[in-house]
Amino acid sequence: MKKHNFSAGPCILPQSVLQKAAEAVLDFNNLNLSLIEISHRSKDFVEVMENARNLALEHLGLQDKGYKALFLQGGASLEFLMVAYNLLEKKAAYLNTGTWSDKAIKEAKLIGEVVEVATSKSDNFNFIPKNYQIPKDADYFHCTSNNTIFGTQIQDFPDTGIPMVCDMSSDIFSRQLDFSKFSLIYAGAQKNMGPAGTTLVVIKEEILGKVSRAIPSMLNYKVHIAKDSMFNTPAVFPVYVSMLTLEWLKNLGGISEIEKVNNQKAELLYNEIDRNPLFEGFVANKEDRSKMNATFNLKNEDLKATFENQLKQAGINGLNGHRSVGGYRASMYNALPLESVQVLVDVMQTVEKGA
Ligand SMILES: *Cc1c(COP(=O)(O)O)cnc(C)c1O
Repeated sequence: MKKHNFSAGPCILPQSVLQKAAEAVLDFNNLNLSLIEISHRSKDFVEVMENARNLALEHLGLQDKGYKALFLQGGASLEFLMVAYNLLEKKAAYLNTGTWSDKAIKEAKLIGEVVEVATSKSDNFNFIPKNYQIPKDADYFHCTSNNTIFGTQIQDFPDTGIPMVCDMSSDIFSRQLDFSKFSLIYAGAQKNMGPAGTTLVVIKEEILGKVSRAIPSMLNYKVHIAKDSMFNTPAVFPVYVSMLTLEWLKNLGGISEIEKVNNQKAELLYNEIDRNPLFEGFVANKEDRSKMNATFNLKNEDLKATFENQLKQAGINGLNGHRSVGGYRASMYNALPLESVQVLVDVMQTVEKGA
């Protein structure tokens, strides 16, 4: 039986998607050829790429609004640099809410001046700073919507008055937002969309072309837009699996439907963390808790072996916290069924009864 997969990334994908992906590796579209051995310029693959880009925009409600979707390589980590390369002229404003924001800031500093508008670093990023000022003369404001490692999530995005750039790697397509508030959204596929190897970038075209530096082709969003994400050979398999996941989501009823399930999963687990005297949540303010990654600790270390043994017996995978936080992290991405969370809650209760 398949395990209950709480892995933070690469992470769980819908079983039906894995099945179709496996079939396409052997024989794609009845071509008697594998998806991964045909030309990316072939009609069959060009259709995959177009479909994937259109589905991404459709889910976000950004079709016909001046946005382009790209499937690039280099992970979300390369976007840390590309964003600055393409948008940073005078200075940029960054909100520092975790390891990934911190890394984004480090890359942007290679390109120009960075103003850190607020940070929760001194508290090991266990809350989301609020009431900060965003300089109106900055070229853009950058934030991370969901902090995968620490388990915090931005609930209210600021009205910036300048372009807002967001790393949505670990919560894209998980909840409804007014996505038109953002001028650039990027997300590594391997958290909530597909396998590792491609990054979705959604850009409002009007923000491009405003910096004076020469941009190398592979780092230039305009080049990738002009070539429909095919400037060089795209990551054909990750793009295909991402497309399948986006189709799966559409068949479920889209973001609004998956959000209901995501809310149920988060409520079920956080209620247990708060109720069960053996456990405590890591995040300082409950309103900052992530619905994707729930971080928590076992108060009594003596029960560690018992708890982890029970997890193993229940078929639970990937619950260890990130090394910078410790404890446990339950990643509850779109494809994780509610039943898996129930199995985890049952284990937490079993350990409580035995303690
Ligand atoms: C995982 C993650 C990244 C890094 O993604 P890569 O694709 O490995 O570069 C960046 N930001 C967030 C929020 C993440 O969760």
